[in-house]
Amino acid sequence: MLKAGSTIGILGGGQLARMLAGAALKMGYHTHVYDPNPKSPAFEISSLKTIGSFEDHGLLKKFAKTCDVLTYEFENIPHKALEEIEQIVQIFPRKTSLYISQDRIKEKQFFKSLNLETVEYATICSFEDFSKSIKQIKIPSILKTCREGYDGKGQLLITNKTKKKDVEEHLLQGPCILESFLKFEKELSVIIARNDNGDVVSFDPGENVHKSGILYSTTVPSQISKTLQIDSIIIAGKIVNSLKYVGVLGVELFLTHDDRVVVNEMAPRVHNSGHWTQNGCAIDQFEQHIRAISGHALGDGERYSDVTMINILGDTTKNFRNITNAAVHFYGKDEARPGRKMGHVNYVSPKTS
Ligand code: AMP
Repeated sequence: MLKAGSTIGILGGGQLARMLAGAALKMGYHTHVYDPNPKSPAFEISSLKTIGSFEDHGLLKKFAKTCDVLTYEFENIPHKALEEIEQIVQIFPRKTSLYISQDRIKEKQFFKSLNLETVEYATICSFEDFSKSIKQIKIPSILKTCREGYDGKGQLLITNKTKKKDVEEHLLQGPCILESFLKFEKELSVIIARNDNGDVVSFDPGENVHKSGILYSTTVPSQISKTLQIDSIIIAGKIVNSLKYVGVLGVELFLTHDDRVVVNEMAPRVHNSGHWTQNGCAIDQFEQHIRAISGHALGDGERYSDVTMINILGDTTKNFRNITNAAVHFYGKDEARPGRKMGHVNYVSPKTS
């Protein structure tokens, strides 16, 4: 177990790092946050900060030498950066989990290797690939860039109105995946943790609503049967066990109209749809992640209330400044851009089920 007063390094300094740093501080640890943006929200909370590029290997190594263990808050970290750092300090979650999640094709193949159901998909590198595959995947479908897509970015909905030029332009961003469009009943996510001893703890599945590809709300309990809740947790459990994962993982799922749970994607980090745990559980996802990567016993994951988490997006912050019936979490960002995550609120009520 990491000694009190040790330093946890965090790559990326956004709101997830800010909340991780808060949890680490509470557990008696220092944090050192690395991010290129001098205005990173996590810098206010971390004991140490380094402003630098993820391409600056000299600076990354210097940073790594100050850390006793290292974690990250976002997926798009260059491989070379991780390989350099790994020579110096242990990284959790391990880089294999990150590499799988960085590439939508690798991710789908990985899910298939575990016999998990995914939507039908095809790899698309050219317009010829697209023309061939659309016959099988059919319309409507979604063309997604394999890498660096988040919050609905890098996605093109394919309908009978889509033009060849739109597809060709989209493909300029790099290799893509064509996914059949699933008319799902609900979107769910499971936030699960595993430590190096192999202990696994899940939080209750949350029911998510997205608007324009961005998470808008998460509600617990999800309005699905206990059996489906357990099915969802088993899927997430298979993923963490097969990866010998260490840390918190977010798994996004679709529930079909005929009650099948289809896995969409995974994020090897704390997750926006797990923010409800801050006010619904004694041990939230941030503390759970710090526990997992520092070699502590995992917290119990029990939920004590019903919660709806709402994201505060763009310049809507003022609507939430004076509310008194929800716990507010602002990220300290000064510039509100459309769709930018500025904070979130948790509406809490007594547990019903
Ligand atoms: P993703 O980046 O894959 O999580 O996609 C963002 C959001 O787009 C999801 O949360 C869904 O609301 C929607 N979406 C993504 N893939 C599909 C799909 N194959 N069928 C229907 N909706 C999808």
